[in-house]
Amino acid sequence: MDLITIVVPCYNEEAVLPAFYEAVCEVAASFKKSEAFEFLFVDDGSADSTLAVIQRFAERDRRVRYLSFSRNFGKEAAIYAGLKHARGGLVALMDADLQDPPDYLKRMYDAITEEGYDCAAARRVSRRGEPRIRSFLARRFYRIMRRISNADIVDGARDYRMMTRQVVEAILSVTEYNRFSKGIFGWVGFKTKWLEYENIKRAAGETKWSVWKLFKYSMEGITAFSVAPLALASFGGIALCGVAVIAILFIIVRQLLYGGSAFGWPSMACIVIFIGGIQLLCVGILGQYLAKTYLEVKERPVYIVREASEEEEQG
Ligand code: UDP
Ligand code: MG
Repeated sequence: MDLITIVVPCYNEEAVLPAFYEAVCEVAASFKKSEAFEFLFVDDGSADSTLAVIQRFAERDRRVRYLSFSRNFGKEAAIYAGLKHARGGLVALMDADLQDPPDYLKRMYDAITEEGYDCAAARRVSRRGEPRIRSFLARRFYRIMRRISNADIVDGARDYRMMTRQVVEAILSVTEYNRFSKGIFGWVGFKTKWLEYENIKRAAGETKWSVWKLFKYSMEGITAFSVAPLALASFGGIALCGVAVIAILFIIVRQLLYGGSAFGWPSMACIVIFIGGIQLLCVGILGQYLAKTYLEVKERPVYIVREASEEEEQG
C-alpha cells in the first residue's frame, strides 16, 4: 500500500481548485516519505476553465492525472470513472470545494492502516449553514431510506471517504447504470469507520444542488435501493377489497334485518370498490415480478468476499 489516489469530481470548480490543490498538497507533505500520492481529477464536462486549471497542475506536478468528460454526466458518473482509473492501493474520494476537510485524510489513513478498517468515511453531525427546510427534508429522506432498503445509508454521510483496493473493486463490481453511490458504499459492506465533523461551508463557487435536483436525487436513491414502492399497489388493493367486503356484509345484514330497498347505489358502490381493489392487487402482483426483474437486470454480485483461506482465493 504505497500509493494513495485522491479522486476529485469537479464541475465548474475553477474558483476553488487552486486552494483545494494546495491544501491537499500540504496534507500530503505531512505523510511519511514512503507514501506516494496521486491526484485524479475528473472534470465532469465543466463549462468554465476547470480543465485548464487542472492541466496547469498536471504540467507542474507529475502526481496529477485527469479525465475530462465530453459533457456533464453527473457526480455519480465522475465517481465511477475516478474509481475505475485510480491506481492506488488506497483510494480517497473528495469534493473539490474544501467542504471535506483535507486533514481528515491522515485520520482516515490511520484508521485503515493501523486500526484494520477497510474504509474510513466522513459524516456531518450538523448541517449548520444550510437552509432549515433542506436539512429537515434530508433527515426525513435518510429515515425513510433506512426503513425501506437494505443498504445501510448513514444520515449525514458524505461521499468523502478513503478505502482499500478491495473495497474499490467491490464497488466497481456493482455495474448498474443508475448509480446511487451512497447506497452502493453501504451495500458492499466492509468495516467502515465513521469520522464525524461539523458542517463546513463551501470555500468558493456555488453548490450544484437545487432543491429540485436534490428531490430527484432522493427519488433515485429510493428507486435504486428499494422496491417497496412497487408493493404499495398491493397494499392499496388489499385494503380496498377489505373495505368492500365489510360494506357488502353490512348491506346484507341490514337487508336481512330491516328489508327494504337496500340494493340501490350502496351495493353498486361496493362492487365498484371491490373491482377497483382487485385491479390494484393485480397491479401489485405485476409490481412484485417487476421488482424481481429489476433486481436481476442490475446484475449485482450475489455476495462479496472479504477474507478467505488461500485455496478459496485461488479457486
Ligand atoms: N460535481 C460533479 N458533477 C456534477 C455536480 C457536482 O462532478 O454534476 C462535483 C462538484 O464539482 C463537487 C462535488 O461534486 O466537487 C460536490 O458538489 P457540490 O459541492 O455542489 O455538492 P454539495 O457539497 O452541496 O453536496
Ligand atoms: Mg459541496
